[in-house]
Parts: sequence; structure tokens; C-alpha cells
Amino acid sequence: MTVNSPRAAQPRRGARVLVLGGTAEARELAGALDAAGVPVVSSLAGRVARPRLPVGEVRVGGFGGPQGLARWLAEHGVGAVLDATHPFAEQMSGSAAEACEAARVPLLRLERPGWSERDGDAWHWVDDLSAAAALVPQLGSRVLLTTGRQGLAAFAGVGGAWFLVRCVDPPSPPLPPRHRLVIDRGPYTLAGELALIDAHGIDLVVTKDSGGHHTEAKLDAARRRKRPVIVVRRPPGPSVPTVGEVGAALAWLRSTTQAG
Ligand code: NAP
Repeated sequence: MTVNSPRAAQPRRGARVLVLGGTAEARELAGALDAAGVPVVSSLAGRVARPRLPVGEVRVGGFGGPQGLARWLAEHGVGAVLDATHPFAEQMSGSAAEACEAARVPLLRLERPGWSERDGDAWHWVDDLSAAAALVPQLGSRVLLTTGRQGLAAFAGVGGAWFLVRCVDPPSPPLPPRHRLVIDRGPYTLAGELALIDAHGIDLVVTKDSGGHHTEAKLDAARRRKRPVIVVRRPPGPSVPTVGEVGAALAWLRSTTQAG
């Protein structure tokens, strides 16, 4: 476990744990806590029409910024927060850091490790979606775009390429002028991703560095077909204690609860 910086506040034994979710790891965490008899409430943003729900109590929707979240923590007797949101959910993680600091509630960030390049990969790292869009014309003309429903406007000005846009729910305009939508959600398989590349003549893949196994088959498929990949770097997160695995998050919670 790599905990970046210790925090002074300790959770009260038996107090509720808030899991900020929207990821497979968050669902796993909630399941493990619920099974262990720990009172847990999972929070979802409410962006996805039919989300995969974790076991246990679930609340949906924003808190109203850091102040709203700090109020919510106090009103609901929360003793610890596990921020297991997606690595690109920058605002929610920042808000959790600020709210937990203000409310003196211990916070741990669970962030799955990012992907790393292997032999045979041709990855091009960029800082954001605009940089990814700017690079597209140099690398390909038939693009598998898997950066999610939000932020597709960045690609709306890329007229020269055709995009296969894959998202969980239909996106809102603006979208790239020449595109086809695929509404789908992982986990994806290597065979499925190879078939997609072949069927659509994909010559470039664009992805965020989401990490994890659910969506990594596209990277294996790109390597197999010798296709370049544009990878959007993760935004810098707030400086809070961070672990990379569910087991480490559970261990942190056990140890901080016992110490409290
Ligand atoms: P974001 O930009 O960081 O969050 C925007 C606002 O949405 C937050 O300030 C907060 O509103 C609300 N919010 C976000 N996550 C929430 C949660 N778990 N519970 C309650 N409110 C939440 O987040 P995002 O990138 O739109 O992602 C939204 C959700 O989708 C996250 O939970 C994330 O785990 C999941 N997700 C994101 C991505 C991605 O690529 N960004 C991919 C897969 C899943 P208030 O300020 O009002 O509290």
C-alpha cells in the first residue's frame, strides 16, 4: 500500500463510511464493507442512465460543492470517506479533499494504477482532450474514440477524420462531424476489440489513461494490429493519502478505525 501522506483525523468506530463511486472498485469496496457489517453509503453522480449499483445504501447526485459535502458528512454521521471515483473525476476528488479537511473526516483516495506501455505499443501521451484532438490528423483517419461522453466537443473541429465514438450513454452535441456512435459498456474482450478494429478499418485509438482491466482490451488489440494509440494523461489529483487497490483501502479503514 502506498499511502502518500498521513492524516491526523481518525474515524469513529461504528460510524458510517461514505464511498464516492462510479467505478468497479467503488462497487467492490461497498460490497466488502457491507459484507463486513460496516455501515456504508455509496454516492453516484447520476450521469449514467442505468448505473451498475453497488450493494448497500446508495445516494445519487452532486452534494453542492465542498461546502455541501462537508454539511452532508456532518448531517449523516460519516466517520470516513473513501474516494473511489474515476481517475478523471477531478472535481469530485478536489471537493472531497476540501470537504474532509474542513469537516475533519479522514479521507483515503483509491485510484487504480494507470496503464503502461509494453513492447510493440505506439502510444502518444497528451495532457488533455484538446491535445488529443490536435494530434489525430497526424496519426490516423479512422479513429476509435473511447474517452467517454463528456468532452467530445474537443473533437468537433476534426473534420478530416472519421470517428467510431464509443460511450455508455448517448452523448450530447457537438460531436465530430463524421462519426458513428456505439453505445456499449465494458468489460471488453480482445476478440471483440480486434473485430471492431477490423470491421471499421480503425487506424488509431484514442483513450484516457483510465487503467484497470475492464477496458484495457482495446490496448491489446491496438498492439496486435500495430495501431497507434493517443493516451490522455490523468489530471493531477489533490494531495491526499492514496492507495491503488481495494484490499489496501480496507486495511487503511481497519487500521484508522482501530486507532480512533
Ligand atoms: P467530476 O467532473 O469530478 O464531478 C463533477 C461534479 O459531479 C462534482 O463536483 C459533484 O457535484 C458531482 N459528482 C461527481 N462524482 C460524484 C459522486 N460519486 N457522487 C456525487 N456527486 C458526484 O466527475 P465526472 O468526471 O463528471 O464523473 C462523474 C462520475 O462518473 C464520477 O462519480 C466518476 O467516478 C464516474 N466516472 C467518470 C469517468 C470520467 O472519465 N470522468 C469515467 C467513468 C466513471 P457537486 O460539486 O455538486 O458535489
